[in-house]
Amino acid sequence: MSHFYHSCRYLLAPLLLTGLLLGAIDYFSARWVDWLDTIQVMPYWLLAIAALIALQFNRSRLSYIASLLLLFYALTQHGLLSSDTYQWVFIGGGIITAVFCFIKDRGLLSIHTLVRLGIIAASLLAAYLWLSLLEHYPGMAQQVRERYLPFLSANGLATLPVFLAGAVMLVKLIKDSNLVHTSLGLTFIVWLMHYYAADLQSLAVQLNMIAVFLLLTVLFDSYFLAYRDELTSLPSRRALFNLSLSLGRKYTVAMVDIDHFKKFNDTYGHDVGDQVLKLVAVKLSQVTGGGKAFRYGGEEFTIVFANKQAKQVVEHLDAVRQSIEDYDIVLRETKRKANQNSNASKNRNKKAVDKQRIVSVTVSIGLAEHLADQSFEQCMKQADKALYKAKKKGRNQVCA
Ligand code: GH3
Ligand code: MG
Ligand code: MG
Repeated sequence: MSHFYHSCRYLLAPLLLTGLLLGAIDYFSARWVDWLDTIQVMPYWLLAIAALIALQFNRSRLSYIASLLLLFYALTQHGLLSSDTYQWVFIGGGIITAVFCFIKDRGLLSIHTLVRLGIIAASLLAAYLWLSLLEHYPGMAQQVRERYLPFLSANGLATLPVFLAGAVMLVKLIKDSNLVHTSLGLTFIVWLMHYYAADLQSLAVQLNMIAVFLLLTVLFDSYFLAYRDELTSLPSRRALFNLSLSLGRKYTVAMVDIDHFKKFNDTYGHDVGDQVLKLVAVKLSQVTGGGKAFRYGGEEFTIVFANKQAKQVVEHLDAVRQSIEDYDIVLRETKRKANQNSNASKNRNKKAVDKQRIVSVTVSIGLAEHLADQSFEQCMKQADKALYKAKKKGRNQVCA
């Protein structure tokens, strides 16, 4: 379910917005005739700005794509791409965009730059060799087409690598959706549009659109980087203090802390500890009663209930505490890993199911209602005191 939500947010929503944007561009295109000269020049500026900003934010793949498109635009504007060369560049560009979904962002001043440039050159070379092969052996190409791919035209066979690259890219986008992949996917779609329906929109409009995608991706990505906790995907402490500025007078804060987590880490290892932190975070994010969960730091979380008194939220907090206590966590531990970890092999007394182990953790929760003339920090301190009380009273409970 959460994978589906993730895909909706990072893949489907941007795709839907792009569809709407394309519709809007088509609808309004008659009205910006006066602006045509400006629109023609804009890709130079927008793509250059996108390339520089992406580089500044360590999104080097987006920077390469913007630079390559800038080069492509300059060549087209100066009439330096013949129709033969254009087909080659189209196939190579499609492959490059797809391959970029499988490599990492790396700094520009490193050996990785040579590798990236090598990948770009290899993609263009592959496209060139493919087209040369079809050109030099037309009989064989026709035979292959008639026997195995009768539904393809000669041009269809020539551009087949782009569609194969697109299919691989689509699988990657669904399996591992994030904004960088989505903007590479959108670039790919616009690239196809330009080849197959060039008269739909001018290249300048399409490239301006891509530059805006790339810029928005960098912008949103850095927002998520600053306000999302990487391990649990919950909003971070920074997001908590940001929210605190918009809270009214009435709210309740709860501090949540996993019980004996140090011992848990010592027993099962830090990686298993991380897995458990993620699962606890999922449970906390599902708290009812209008609560919003944050990762405060380490194994501590904060839940904020805006416009709620303490007595209105106790039952919701107790329900989430109970759901964590009842949650059987299945450890995805391989045998090899278990043997490597001497501490883990000492703990054979836990319930074992098909070489998997089931464990559980509990949490203690302290809550405090905001009092008049109290700052957010003071209210949190109060919740922390209540948490200490819950720990002292034996843990696995909610205290006010
Ligand atoms: P208590 O019931 O009193 O809260 O005991 P505790 O052991 O949970 O308390 P303490 O604060 O002493 O220990 C917190 C431990 O949480 C220390 C550290 O090993 C672990 N921890 C903190 N952050 C992380 C993390 O990001 N990943 C993992 N795996 N462990 C973490
Ligand atoms: Mg702690
Ligand atoms: Mg703890």
